[in-house]
Amino acid sequence: MWPQMPAKSVKETICAIATPPGSGALGVIRVSGPKALEILSNLWRGPVPVEKFKPRTLYLGNISVFPNPQSGPIDRVLAVFMPAPATYTGEDVVELSAHGSPVVLREILSACVSGGARPAMPGEFTRRAFMAGKIDLAQAEGVADLIAATGERGARLAAEQMDGRLSREVTSIGEEIASVRAEIEAAIDFPEEDVDAGGGKPVVRRVAEALSKVDALGESFREGKLLREGVRVAIVGRPNAGKSSVMNCIAGRERAIVHHVPGTTRDVVEEKLSFGGLAFNLRDTAGLREEAGEVEEMGIARTLREIEEADLVLAVVDGSLPVDEECAKMFSKLDARRTVVVLNKSDLPRACLCEEKLAELGFSPPLFTSAKSGDGMTELAAELLRRANLSSSEGEGAVITSARHKALLDEASSSLAQARISLEAGEPSEFCAHHMREAQEALGKITGAVTTDDLLDRIFSRFCIGK
Ligand code: GDP
Repeated sequence: MWPQMPAKSVKETICAIATPPGSGALGVIRVSGPKALEILSNLWRGPVPVEKFKPRTLYLGNISVFPNPQSGPIDRVLAVFMPAPATYTGEDVVELSAHGSPVVLREILSACVSGGARPAMPGEFTRRAFMAGKIDLAQAEGVADLIAATGERGARLAAEQMDGRLSREVTSIGEEIASVRAEIEAAIDFPEEDVDAGGGKPVVRRVAEALSKVDALGESFREGKLLREGVRVAIVGRPNAGKSSVMNCIAGRERAIVHHVPGTTRDVVEEKLSFGGLAFNLRDTAGLREEAGEVEEMGIARTLREIEEADLVLAVVDGSLPVDEECAKMFSKLDARRTVVVLNKSDLPRACLCEEKLAELGFSPPLFTSAKSGDGMTELAAELLRRANLSSSEGEGAVITSARHKALLDEASSSLAQARISLEAGEPSEFCAHHMREAQEALGKITGAVTTDDLLDRIFSRFCIGK
């Protein structure tokens, strides 16, 4: 069952520029609500009058200023009318494809507002789609993720979520929990009858199965988060090892300040890029130098925090210098499983012989790169991709990408675990039924079967205006 939107706000007609700010070939204005067609007919100066518009058919005509139709046209547009309920929002929708001039689009928008629409809030079209039962909450979140996706695989995952894949999986687990719960509750109400809705499968086994499905979905978050947000890579190493140069080389353009005085990269410089279908967020940190000034110490503290928060660490070592105590100390601070070591400056004679030390500490063999000649960069990109450790198999079960979904799955998991303990301990069935209901509610919050205005405000405020 879908929660009802207050009647008043449903009746309002909303409008927005749906294309991004700035100039472009086309700009799209969206109008949704009961007055959409009336608003269009006030602005429309075209050979076919609005009353004669066939649904979902494009018409060419001029848009003029409302309420002063005698003034010249604002723009020549293509207009389409899509009647309720078979539309994105479930309401009457008008879309105008105008020329992508910010001035023109603003003028058309204000003409729509003069005609009786109100500017839409961020995500309001999608919120209306949710309220009309067109999509559930997880699908709506998929829409936002698809728009924000930075890597191809993340985009594909978001499209699947938008298509209802996660919702179907969550709903199916929720239904199984509901059925077990009904059985348990029947046993409470009619203790003398031998209730067996599970086809003979013991209730405790069915609870355990639901629990393992919930946990498997929860565990997909590590991968989902990487696909959605990109892999966060902290680039660390001593000053002058070539961290900024290596980052620039991977990124293929100059953004970080490359300087030959040690200790210049005090702030974290970030570079976002995408390769192998995956988004990467490279973060060039301050050096990790032991005897440092006050400003550098702050930088070092930040570097340690970056290492902590990174999915991967790229340790850049100057291969032309002998490995010294400081370098060894740096290795001892890093988590070998998450670290890729490169010996940079491979164009210079090699002096750093650290392979044995690295192997001793559990690191994989280092890669050899030259930020100067570009040697080894393809291998480095491939290694980063490999170490992100994503399963190559797409299409095996849903993957969650949102911290909100993860928290709710964790809630459902602990409720189911308690339900199982309660069953195994032979406690009165009410306890188990209570935990099962908690689990069901947590899952319901993922798809929005259970929701609050607050939650909806939080989710839809992340959207852009016009979506
Ligand atoms: P960072 O302090 O670790 O970020 O180091 P930088 O990227 O600023 O580089 C320090 C110095 O080393 C600069 O003068 C770079 O031009 C130089 N450098 C960086 N990578 C290479 C390389 O692969 N080969 C050579 N020969 N010089 C490099």
